[in-house]
Amino acid sequence: MSQGDERHGALREAVRVVLAEFPASYWRDLDQERAYPEAFVRAMTRAGYMGALIPREYGGLGLSLTETSVILEEVNGSGGNAGPAHAQMYIMGTLLRHGSETQKREFLPRIASGELRLQAFGVTEPDAGTDTTAITTSAVRDGDEYVINGRKIYISRVPHSDLLLLLARTTPADQVKKRTQGLSVFLIDLHHALGNGLTFSPIKTWLNNTTGELHFTDLRIPASALVGEEGRGFRYILDGMNAERVLIAAECVGDGRWFIGQAVARANERVIFGRPIGQNQGVQFPIAQAHMAICAADLMRYRAAELFDAGQPCGPEANMSKQLAAEASWQAGNVAMQTFGGYGFAVDYDIERKLRETRLYQVAPISTNLVLSYIAEHVLGLPRSF
Ligand SMILES: Cc1cc2nc3c(=O)[nH]c(=O)nc-3n(C[C@H](O)[C@H](O)[C@H](O)COP(=O)(O)OP(=O)(O)OC[C@H]3O[C@@H](n4cnc5c(N)ncnc54)[C@H](O)[C@@H]3O)c2cc1C
Repeated sequence: MSQGDERHGALREAVRVVLAEFPASYWRDLDQERAYPEAFVRAMTRAGYMGALIPREYGGLGLSLTETSVILEEVNGSGGNAGPAHAQMYIMGTLLRHGSETQKREFLPRIASGELRLQAFGVTEPDAGTDTTAITTSAVRDGDEYVINGRKIYISRVPHSDLLLLLARTTPADQVKKRTQGLSVFLIDLHHALGNGLTFSPIKTWLNNTTGELHFTDLRIPASALVGEEGRGFRYILDGMNAERVLIAAECVGDGRWFIGQAVARANERVIFGRPIGQNQGVQFPIAQAHMAICAADLMRYRAAELFDAGQPCGPEANMSKQLAAEASWQAGNVAMQTFGGYGFAVDYDIERKLRETRLYQVAPISTNLVLSYIAEHVLGLPRSF
């Protein structure tokens, strides 16, 4: 029986062919070894999916955000984790929308073909956290170069990426009218930078995600690494965030459907007190409730994606879809855990791994409180809090 919304059936079928090579056990082994899904990323690149959002003229598939979100939903719905790979799909949007034609011709076709990986996105800093405009990593123009100094934290996939998209301050905060001004975006060649003013120190986290801290000490990069105009970087980063929110919402929908599928199968099969545990309404109802929450979040994800694809404003919908889906997938994961009883804690059933993976999306790339404050202030007109 279908559990949900199966739009874009042909695309789903094509993605499932690739995913058939990567069963849940593949992800489980990687999780245990804390290894990067190299084979998965290569297969997704070969199939063109890593360049889904790159227009055809630059060698990509030229798919819509809605279609791209279906790809990521399928990855997570198969028991996998798109997290180690998904960034490449949307980080390049900043380059696509704001880069020069020379930059686009130089990088986008090579990103689409997999020759170059743009998987790393450096925004968060230890002393700024959620308050992005408080970042202090500086980029100072010196002739034909910029000199970068500062620190970034929780920057993912750096060892698996050729390029880093970096947000840095080009004008100190006390010299701009608004703190959103004076920030700029740079596309940095990691092979050149690491060891020449940039160091990466890994941070071990709850889930299998290569993340860590970056230290910039007089790193010199060519002035041509600047994307768009100097000082407008915050706006450029914001432009990409709606796409990111929708794609992550789709991943959470995939997680939720996977959890519910597992819970339903287990509740039907597991016989205790002489009957399937799923015959008890105490077991059925939480699964039904989690299913309803996922279906509702999924509708908001499609609404946000369709607005984005139509070029319409979609900030409220994109934020709501990410939050509703992240909460719903966590709810579904808890229900699966409860339905499996002790077995949910065993690594071999993948429930505990998926639960760790889906939990991230209530914190990153933006935490739940920040979404709530955006909705309260900008959608409902409540007083500004910070
Ligand atoms: C595994 C992982 C991978 C990551 N990958 C990347 C990456 O690749 N690139 C990158 O740039 N970042 C990355 N991050 C960072 C992530 O985006 C941040 O952790 C997140 O934005 C929250 O920032 P913080 O951790 O500094 O929390 P803080 O800013 O310290 O906030 C802590 C808590 O306080 C709450 N809070 C703060 N201020 C307020 C307020 N005014 N009102 C109400 N609540 C408030 C927040 O909602 C949050 O719950 C990653 C994080 C993790 C864990």
